[in-house]
Amino acid sequence: MTCKEIVELMTDYLDGFLSPSRRAKFEQHISGCDGCRAYLTQLKTARMLIGRTAAEPVPEPLKAELMNAFRYWKAAS
Ligand SMILES: [Zn+2]
Repeated sequence: MTCKEIVELMTDYLDGFLSPSRRAKFEQHISGCDGCRAYLTQLKTARMLIGRTAAEPVPEPLKAELMNAFRYWKAAS
């Protein structure tokens, strides 16, 4: 999976919507990719901060902001 695919799957991952095989691939990528791991941590924190339950999707503006942060990390690494 590419980083872009991973990012797109992150909310589903956090919500437990991934199939076992996709989840395994996702976790494999995360364990070897600092950028995606940082993004996942950020996403978890952001969701906690905005007080959303796991069932609710991340609002689009926040998602866009996180994508920008993610691009920055990738550029910096
Ligand atoms: Zn990645």
